[in-house]
This record gives sequence, C-alpha cells and structure tokens, in this order.
Amino acid sequence: MNDKTKAGGGVSDELNPGFLTGREDRRTGLGVDALKRALLDKLVYVQARFPQVATRHDCFVALAQAVRDRLLQRWVQTARTYRDRGSRTVCYMSAEFLIGPQLGNNLINLGIYDTTRQAMKELGLDLEVLLDQEQEPGLGNGGLGRLAACYLDSLATLEIPAIGYGIRYEFGIFTQAIRDGWQVELTDKWLRAGSPWLIHRPNIAFEIKLGGHTEHHYEALGNRRLRVQWVPGKLVRGTAWDMPVLGFGVNTPNRLRLWSAEAPESFDFAAFNAGNYFQAVDAQICSETITKVLYPNDETEAGQQLRLEQQYFFVSCSLQDMIRLQLQREQNLDHFDEKFVVQLNDTHPSIAVAELMRLLVDEYGMEWDQAWSITRRTFAYTNHTLLPEALEKWRLDLFRRVLPRHYEIICEINERFLDEVRIHFPFDHDRLRRMSLIDEDGARYVRMAHLAVVGSFAVNGVAALHSELLKSDVLRDFHEMWPEKFSNKTNGVTPRRFVLLANPAMSGLIDEVIGKGWVTDMPRLRELERHADDAAFRAEWRRVKASNKLRLMREIGRSTVVDIDPETMFDVQVKRIHEYKRQHLNLLHIVSLYKRLKDDPNLDVAPRTVIFGGKAAPGYAMAKLMIRLITAVADLIGRDPAMRGKLQVVFYPNYNVKNAHAIFPAADLSEQISLAGKEASGTGNMKFQMNGALTIGTLDGANVEIREQVGEENFFLFGMDVPQVKELRRTGYRPRAWYEANPHLREVIDLIAGGFFTRGDRDIFRPLVDNLLNHDEYMLLADFQSYIDCQERVSTSYLDSERWTRMSILNVARSGFFSSDRAIREYCEQIWKVQPVRIELSELTGEDLVFRRAIAQAD
Ligand SMILES: *Cc1c(COP(=O)(O)O)cnc(C)c1O
Repeated sequence: MNDKTKAGGGVSDELNPGFLTGREDRRTGLGVDALKRALLDKLVYVQARFPQVATRHDCFVALAQAVRDRLLQRWVQTARTYRDRGSRTVCYMSAEFLIGPQLGNNLINLGIYDTTRQAMKELGLDLEVLLDQEQEPGLGNGGLGRLAACYLDSLATLEIPAIGYGIRYEFGIFTQAIRDGWQVELTDKWLRAGSPWLIHRPNIAFEIKLGGHTEHHYEALGNRRLRVQWVPGKLVRGTAWDMPVLGFGVNTPNRLRLWSAEAPESFDFAAFNAGNYFQAVDAQICSETITKVLYPNDETEAGQQLRLEQQYFFVSCSLQDMIRLQLQREQNLDHFDEKFVVQLNDTHPSIAVAELMRLLVDEYGMEWDQAWSITRRTFAYTNHTLLPEALEKWRLDLFRRVLPRHYEIICEINERFLDEVRIHFPFDHDRLRRMSLIDEDGARYVRMAHLAVVGSFAVNGVAALHSELLKSDVLRDFHEMWPEKFSNKTNGVTPRRFVLLANPAMSGLIDEVIGKGWVTDMPRLRELERHADDAAFRAEWRRVKASNKLRLMREIGRSTVVDIDPETMFDVQVKRIHEYKRQHLNLLHIVSLYKRLKDDPNLDVAPRTVIFGGKAAPGYAMAKLMIRLITAVADLIGRDPAMRGKLQVVFYPNYNVKNAHAIFPAADLSEQISLAGKEASGTGNMKFQMNGALTIGTLDGANVEIREQVGEENFFLFGMDVPQVKELRRTGYRPRAWYEANPHLREVIDLIAGGFFTRGDRDIFRPLVDNLLNHDEYMLLADFQSYIDCQERVSTSYLDSERWTRMSILNVARSGFFSSDRAIREYCEQIWKVQPVRIELSELTGEDLVFRRAIAQAD
C-alpha cells in the first residue's frame, strides 16, 4: 500500500467547506454533513493538508481525529459525573492491552459506521480503505492482553466507572515475517506516525525510584516510630497517555491510561555542571528504555531486570495516580479501598501489593496494620496459567538490587503471613516451606503468585476447569487456608469487535431474523435456534460464510503468494505458537491425510485448506521450529499437483487483532487442541464459535464449557481428559512405545524425520522429532489416533453441508455465555461490588465556565 497515493478522485469541487449548510456542530454532530465537514476541518486545520494532495493515511488521521472529538465530548461529561458522584472505580491493571485498531470499533460503538461510510463516499473516499490505514497497537502478546481489551469494552458498555492502567510501549510485539520458511522478527514502530487516539498528559507525572538502599531511623518526636527512608540509585519520571474507550450505544468512554518513562529532568545537572554532557544525556536515554519494548512471553532469560523495572514502574505510577485522585476527594486515605478496587491481570502487576504498603506506610505515615487491611481489601487477582514454568518469580538478589525497600516489605508480609499459616496448620513445616513468599530451595526467589494471593481478597481462574485445577493443584495450600477467596470467572470476548465489526454479513443476517438487541444481550442469540431448521435461512447462512471466505482469501493473497481455494473447508489454528497448544499435532494430522490421499487418490474426504497463524517468542527455538515445519509441509503439499482441490496448507504471517477480523468469520473449523490441563481458558475458541465455526477440541480450558453450551452433538471432542493425563503420567508415559505400536503414526513421523519435507535434510527437524519420541511433554503421540479419528468425523460431517450448516447456526445461537459482558457482570457483582453510572449527554453551558475555582484547585 502506497501512502503517497492520492486518497480518491472527484473530490475537488465538493470540498469547498462553504457548501455545507448542515446545522450540526462539526465537533460533535453525528450526521453525514457534520462528519464530512469534520474531516475537512481536521485535514486543513490540524494537519495543514488540502484534499488534492492528501494521502490515504492523512484522511485516516483526519477521520480518527474527527471521531476522537465525539469521544472527548462524552469523556469530559463522564469524568465530571464520576467526580461529582465520587463513584467507586475499578482499576484494571495489566502489563498488556491488545486493543487492536480503534477507528472501526469507535464507529461501531458510536453507532455511526454506516453514516460514516456514506459521508466518506460523498467525499469520494472508501471507508474500508481508510480503516486499513490504521496500525495495530501491538501492546500485548496474545490472549491475556486481548482479554484486558475486551474487558475495557464491556466495562464501558455496562457503564461501570473504570480505568485501565498499563504501559505505553514504544515498540509493541514484533511484526512477524516469514523468510525461507523461518520466522523473522521486525520491530513494530506503531508510534512512528503517532497515534491519533493517545492524549498526552505531561502534567500527570510521578517520580519512580529504583535501586539504591534503605535507611532506618526513629522519628525524633512523638512515639519514636521507626521510619524507613528509601534512598534510590536512580529516578525515573512517568507521564500519562490516555486513550478513550467508548462503550457501545452509551455515553461512557472510560480511560485507558498508559505510562511512559522519561528522565526526571531533561539533564542530570550535576553531571552537566561537571562538564559531562554525554553522561547526562545517557542517563536520560537510560530512563526512557523502561517503556521501550514489550517483552514477548516465554522469553525466560532476556531482560529480567528491565522487565521487573517495567512492572514496578507502571504499578507505582498507577497507585500514585489513584492516591492523587483519592486525596482530591477526601482528606486522607482511610477509605481508599471503598473508592477503588484493583484487579491484577496475572502476576505482572502484583508488586502493587508491596508498593501500596510502601506508599501508605512510608510516604503517608499510616500504621502497618491499617495499611495492610486497606491493601488486602483493595486487590483481587486473576491467575492465567497452569504451566509451572510460567508462574512468575524473581531471583532474590536481582529483586533486592532493584527494589530494596520492597524486599523488606515482602519479608515483613511473609513473616506475618507464615504466622497465620502456623495457627491454621500447626506443626506442618513442609506447608510453610511450600507457601512462603520466598522460595528457599536452591537459588532463592520471590514468588509473585503467592504475593498476589496473600495480598488480595479474591482470587479467580478464567474457566471452570482452570479454577478447579487452581484449587486442587497450583494453589492448593492457599485454597485450604482461604477457600472463600477463590472463585471462577470464565473469560469472555466482546461481540462488538468480534462479531459486529468483524462479521457485518452475518450480523446483518442475524438482525433480519431476531433484531439488533443481541449485541448487548448475547443470550438472545438463542432465538436463532428455531431458524436452524429453515432451509432458506441455512442457504443464506452458507452464502454469508462463503463471502467471508472470499474476503479472507483476498487478505491472505496480500501477504503470501499462495492462492487459497474458497470452495474447501477452512480448518484454522491461530494462536501463539507453543508446544502446549500443539500446532504440531495438527501437522501430524495433515501429514497423515496427505499420506492417505497419496495412497488412495479416490479417498472420499472433505477438501481442506488448513490455515495457521501465530507468533513464536523470539527466544523459543522449538516454537520457531514448529513454524518451519508448517511452512515445509505447506510447501511440499503446495507443489504436489495431486493435492489441488483436496488439501492445502498456509501459514498466514503476523497474526494480530487486525488480521483476526478477517479470520474468525471465514473459519469452518476451529482447532483447540491443547493437552487437557494446560490451557487456562482460551478466548480464540469463543471468537470462532461466535462466528459459526465448529470446534475440534480437547476437554481443556473453556472448551469444556463451549461443549456444554452447544451440546456434545455439535462439538468434535477427542483426546484424554485431565484424569487420564494424570493417570498416564503417573504410570509412566513412554512416547516411543506409542510410536512403535501404531503403524500409521510411525509412517507419519518417519516422513518428517526422513527429510521428506526438507529435500532429504534429516537434521532440521531432529530436535522436534527426538523430543516427541523421547519426552513428548504434551503427549501428542498418546492423543494422535483419537485426533485422526475425530478429524475423520469432521470430514464426514462437512460433506453433509445441510447438517454442518445447522450445527454452525446452533454454535452461534449458543455462544451468548461467552460475551465479555457476562464475565464483567460477574466480576462487578461478585468481586468488585460496583454499580453502573449513567452518563447523560449535555452541551457545555455558561454555567460550566467556572474556571477560577477549578484552576485554583488544580494548581
Ligand atoms: C483471541 C486472540 C488470542 C488468544 O487466542 P487463544 O487461541 O485463546 O490462545 C491471541 N492473539 C490474538 C490476536 C487474539 O485476537
């Protein structure tokens, strides 16, 4: 796409702003004329461009700025209402917010998508082309970051006062390209041209201390209380960048506040005076590195210290911000936990427990016991993983070096906590060792999940099965001590982005038969059930799916050389590449199918296009090798003319939210094939279901609940369940025995190991094959035959297209439970105890112009 290309022809005469006579305000109006006028206004008066030379990107920015005005009008009203009411506020703290492109979603939520398309058309512009100009803000790795973004959408839609707190990474998750079949990582420069949605608040700034040491001394006067002073080794300044997040069909834009690091002063004056200009500039650059880059997950070694600094940095800024807001409303912090509740999205922000203690005790002079009781009533913690290696911990020496005062505070919390444990469970030394916030076995570590559990009043998992496994395995000791703290909150996704915006064709068809109310009341999709038996409706349903497949075909054609066949079943696996997610099990099926099609060209199976997408962490060699295996198999099958119209494999590079919009609506089959007990929930599975794909999956994460909702006859189940996995592990799993016992499995593995896909090179995939035969941590070989048999059932069902369509309709009709609105309602009622606050839209009036008092307050 060429930025220099002119946006569209035939615009010159009409662009004389004088011709517009509409009465609507060009800052706030939602009609066609007001929007046209606003775009021209932004182009000329904000970007200093005129239409004849404007690029597509210029027009995108102008439209985004016009839309932003409409958000800000509502935002100001919202901020004022919350302040006047002193509303209890949810603070969703997350190191990641994978928000995706904003323009389309904002148009949908403002209810002006079609009007805007019309306005653009009248200006000679194509809305879809402008939408495509927006860069993906890659501020997250995958599911966890996307969940935070879906939750912000639902919080605003449900009119809950909320702030999302996170980090403004200058470089988000890397852009993935494929070179010679391998993943290569390119830097993501999403801020190169700035973001029209981010508003800098340079005066909302806080100082963050790092490193140094602590000094303990008694106060000279009064009760001679012990005061601790943290003398930092360096200071960093955090400033706020705000993004409005508008709810659907309401006037509530909540705030996503992202912190950016800079040097506290532009120069270190001591160094400057000593004549060392470069050292001074260096210090500034150093400070800025804290928010430079998002770390890919699964990257265990890289940048440990910087990552800890990142986490502490954004958590401290956020808590200081909340304290500032509280002190604007009240004299002291005694009621802090009544005005704020903080949800910790995984352990990344869990240092907040120690930081709030430090702020209350050291900075605001509160007694420990009162501070601890406020802290414990403020935080709630969501766990996101069952993989033991993913439970965050910091080496004690590193932790102490970066956060010396927090080390002391954590020791104090730990001592008091272990006393509690001793009272609950006397004489159980082993339990104390297991539960301690400090791991003392070998190299010593701070266990962040333990800190989060001890410092929170509520702990939840993200799917029913996951929450059960937390209680029985991962956090068992804690559950035995505080059973009432634990609950389940099954994840959800927003239907505004993932159905209405991503799948307009299906949404339109649904609207026709059940009306529009489902968008904010997803259980109403059940009304679709009775249309599943209507042959005419089924034909329409297939027409919609076919058009979505054509759209994806065109999208994939833009970034790869392969042409995919829209007549085939689209069998899709998109998610981060990870051994536990088992993309290589999918490959074993593909190779099996290929072998059978070669052996019997008349084999009666459904023609398939298997589509993969997903990034591998740059330091995760096995995941990168899995991508190489996908591209190798795709290549060979692509070169075999006998496979034409029968089997095709593509790797669609750079899976992100923007691409996802085209993927989910086009999918026939959703691959959710992790080993049971490894995937906490998954949310991709829900997005597929809402778009009419059928799931082939294990009893893992939210798959279990998806199957319950849709009925077992509308779900393709295979593989071991959690008790079977545990039993197999207990009795000793020997993958090689499974290989030897199954001739077909042996054929498949031998093709890969023998260099069939790599022109005879037997070395490339050796680590992968050896791993499967000797370790197979995720038990692919044990689930292989069950998966192959299940894919056979999928194929048979697909060939009966009336039956398949019926199942597809029923999957959508029964997807209501997985709306993030349902999830957020549960959090609000059971954990956060917050109420909606309705925002009424009114124009600013003379009475609002009482600056003097306001200015006096702000100063
Ligand atoms: C939903 C989503 C994910 C999570 O996918 P899972 O299949 O649940 O792992 C990851 N990345 C993007 C871009 C998503 O939209």
